[in-house]
Amino acid sequence: MTSAMRPTPPGSRYSGLVDKYRRRLPLRAETAAVTLGEGNTPLIELQNIPEVRAREVRVHVKFEGLNPTASFKDRGMTVAVTKAVEEGGRAVICASTGNTSASAAAYAARAEMAAFVLIPEGKIALGKLAQAMMHGSKVIQIQGNFDAGMALVKRIADEAPVILVNSVNPYRLQGQKTAAFEIIEQLGRPPDFHCLPVGNAGNITAHWIGYCEYSSVPGERTTSACAFCDGDCRLLHDRVVADRPKMVGYQASGAAPFLRGTMLEHPETVATAIRIGRPQSWEQAWSASRESAGWFDECTDGEILAAQKLLAEKEGIFCEPASAVSVAGAIRDIGRGKIPEGSQVVCTLTGHGLKDPDTAIKQSVPPITVSAEMDAVKKVILDNMN
Ligand SMILES: *Cc1c(COP(=O)(O)O)cnc(C)c1O
Repeated sequence: MTSAMRPTPPGSRYSGLVDKYRRRLPLRAETAAVTLGEGNTPLIELQNIPEVRAREVRVHVKFEGLNPTASFKDRGMTVAVTKAVEEGGRAVICASTGNTSASAAAYAARAEMAAFVLIPEGKIALGKLAQAMMHGSKVIQIQGNFDAGMALVKRIADEAPVILVNSVNPYRLQGQKTAAFEIIEQLGRPPDFHCLPVGNAGNITAHWIGYCEYSSVPGERTTSACAFCDGDCRLLHDRVVADRPKMVGYQASGAAPFLRGTMLEHPETVATAIRIGRPQSWEQAWSASRESAGWFDECTDGEILAAQKLLAEKEGIFCEPASAVSVAGAIRDIGRGKIPEGSQVVCTLTGHGLKDPDTAIKQSVPPITVSAEMDAVKKVILDNMN
């Protein structure tokens, strides 16, 4: 072994969520993580949004767009692909509205595995398509929506030697539950309300698993090392936290099976990441909602885009449209008191805005063109100072 290959001593730096939370994950101790340093994303408090400032409510956003492939899917993918390697798999497959394919392609590349991704033709954001292509996965466009792709890959994974890495793969949700652990560490307690976008409903399910697991681990956390995880966070994990948040799931009005109470054939929304009519974690998400005394609600595409713009302009946070539904819904529920004053709220921002440049450019003021002269530029500046 050359010195460059010597493993880093544990604890010396953050090396991904598998290393940190391995004792909470169904992986063997000796299995090396397939990692790109995912997790450990910032929890940012909203400061400038008028609707939030007007109330005695604290809202933090967990910016999952800062994962390696710019969505929370990486949390699940590091565990699913690590497990696929552990099991001797040679190829992975998924159906995707975009982010799962980007993440599967990257982690498969890292593991030197083949990846096959099925995407709905013409309905995936440009950045996500670029990622899947760039990482060398085999991209298969189908003339149908995500739900049709999902039905296909489930059957293919039964018949061919490929491992399915959609969120029906239980290792995906195991990885994604670590976001709940991080939120408790970062906030020093669980929030009162956790708001997040719901498509396939895997992520709301995974967070609920995480919060339940955290609250059910008995008070053994008093020894010199952290007994909860393998990280440098003993003080934060020392306390047993019995509380769990209310889980609040928001959907786009055109793709809201949880609001309609039934699966939908033709979901439609500008938020392509949640353009899903047949959620794969249907039962689990209903349980999370019921057990936590939370609820589901919907936002129109107009409300979603307005919230995306608001976050970008007022807070400097650029998330993708699907992510903004969590903030759009939370702002509305704070305004009408359903989320009461005094509450701590966390909204998950699931993916980065750069994923979908077309939608961003369409709703922004186009650049002005002037001659390359001092006076022309100066005039624009003076005209735009208030
Ligand atoms: C996958 C995804 C969602 C939906 O998550 P589910 O687990 O399918 O409910 C929301 N936003 C973004 C950006 C996503 O990539």
